[in-house]
Amino acid sequence: MSSRPGSKSFPPVAVVGGGVAGLTAARALRERGVPVRIYEVGPQLAGLACSFRDDEGFSFDFGAHFVTNRLAAALGMGAVCRTVQRYGEVVRVGDRFRSYPLGLLASPRHDVSAAVARARALFDATAPQSAAEAFRREYGPAFADEIALPLVEAWSGVAADQLAPSVLQKLPTGIVRTLLMCAVGRLTHRAIAIGYCREQPTSPHVWHVYPEGGTGALCARLAEGLEDVVELQARVERIHVVDGRAVGLRVNGRDVEASAVVSTAPIHVLPRLVEGTDILADFTAFQFRAMTFCNLHLRGRGLLPDVVVWLPERDFRTFRVTEATQSMPWLAPEGKTTLTVDVGCRAGDEWWRLDDAAIVEASLDDVRPLVPDVRERFLGARVLRTPIAYPVFLRDYEAARRRLVDKGTGVDRLLSVGRNGEFDHLLMEDVYYRTLHRVRRLADELCAGGRGFSDREPRASTADAWL
Ligand SMILES: Cc1cc2nc3c(=O)[nH]c(=O)nc-3n(C[C@H](O)[C@H](O)[C@H](O)COP(=O)(O)OP(=O)(O)OC[C@H]3O[C@@H](n4cnc5c(N)ncnc54)[C@H](O)[C@@H]3O)c2cc1C
Repeated sequence: MSSRPGSKSFPPVAVVGGGVAGLTAARALRERGVPVRIYEVGPQLAGLACSFRDDEGFSFDFGAHFVTNRLAAALGMGAVCRTVQRYGEVVRVGDRFRSYPLGLLASPRHDVSAAVARARALFDATAPQSAAEAFRREYGPAFADEIALPLVEAWSGVAADQLAPSVLQKLPTGIVRTLLMCAVGRLTHRAIAIGYCREQPTSPHVWHVYPEGGTGALCARLAEGLEDVVELQARVERIHVVDGRAVGLRVNGRDVEASAVVSTAPIHVLPRLVEGTDILADFTAFQFRAMTFCNLHLRGRGLLPDVVVWLPERDFRTFRVTEATQSMPWLAPEGKTTLTVDVGCRAGDEWWRLDDAAIVEASLDDVRPLVPDVRERFLGARVLRTPIAYPVFLRDYEAARRRLVDKGTGVDRLLSVGRNGEFDHLLMEDVYYRTLHRVRRLADELCAGGRGFSDREPRASTADAWL
């Protein structure tokens, strides 16, 4: 079975996981003529990108999922995607809703506080030590303490002074550009994708779309032609490392040889899978925020003041309620809508263990201040949960996180890719381009028969350079 890389008859590269990242990796390897095998523990492909449709005609994803027309075009799916015509977010402050970004800018108190903070920062050369400090310096204490930090804390489940300042780098910046793109979106009736992708630029020509059949259709497209190499219900239990190099795995109790391993499993799980080195041990401490998404199906439409309502006030259990049908009317039957209520928790805690009926009851209570007659409108509900909704950037392991970013896993021929594998807030377009880049380098290395493979090296700033 085994032969040397270079002949292209070497053992398949093993891909752990069949979500967007795993499928992208497998396609990229196939395109380069590299044998590949995908092991997916679940009964179906798509991972976090899977979509659901119930008998009543409601469709939903894990939270609200959009992709861009740019990604759809890259996958040859432009013709089967619908344009998202509008998208908007508001923040509830007191009893009022303030739109993002214009309404938030219109607070003189926040503006003065931000101006003073930025002026002070000019004379302070020290780097902020926490997310709390970084937010106060960037936006001023008034906005940070009343709006930004309560949202960050509800979303992460951690006090902002325990979070690394890098949390702030994950948020879109550039207010002038944001305003310009919002204006273009209004004129063209397209929801311009603002700050959505780091690997590719924001542009008036890039807007949100939604594939017919849901985001799962995207994975179905990625999986075309890979049917013979996908194994479902195949749990990867071990990744074998010998002399610092990944050489195979154990899947459902059987050992298989591999010329490299591309893992999309959550990074904190990877050290437990890897046998033969403890170089990944620090990643065990990384935490993900678990999340429940309660989809309330209701009579009526346009029940929220905009698509997304952020709730920084601490007396709300939820920090975000979304009415995706305002952007994507096709997600619910005519005259009906879905409000998605997101609640952050820890996998296994009291909230996580509540049964669906109790989560629905609590969500109806949470939504009442926004939609007073929500119970009269109620038609039914579906609760989704994931233990790995968001990576949490704790200060405690920031150095190890930076090492993962800069140096990868540290094991030769073991890549950790995708949203959870990279431990980063990546949306699907970033997952796609970043995975393509890294896996193509791996394929080139294998085809060249090289002995060593360094996971990371300096690269071009946008994905254009890779295509
Ligand atoms: C609330 C929320 C909203 C989002 N909204 C958007 C959006 O609007 N637009 C957008 O583009 N993106 C959005 N995203 C992000 C998007 O869902 C992810 O970027 C993408 O789905 C991640 O794909 P992945 O392949 O990296 O990971 P996953 O989808 O998690 O896939 C990993 C796969 O690996 C499998 N696996 C794990 N361990 C093993 C093992 N030991 N053996 C075998 N298989 C294993 C899992 O079962 C899973 O199928 C959102 C995410 C969340 C949480």
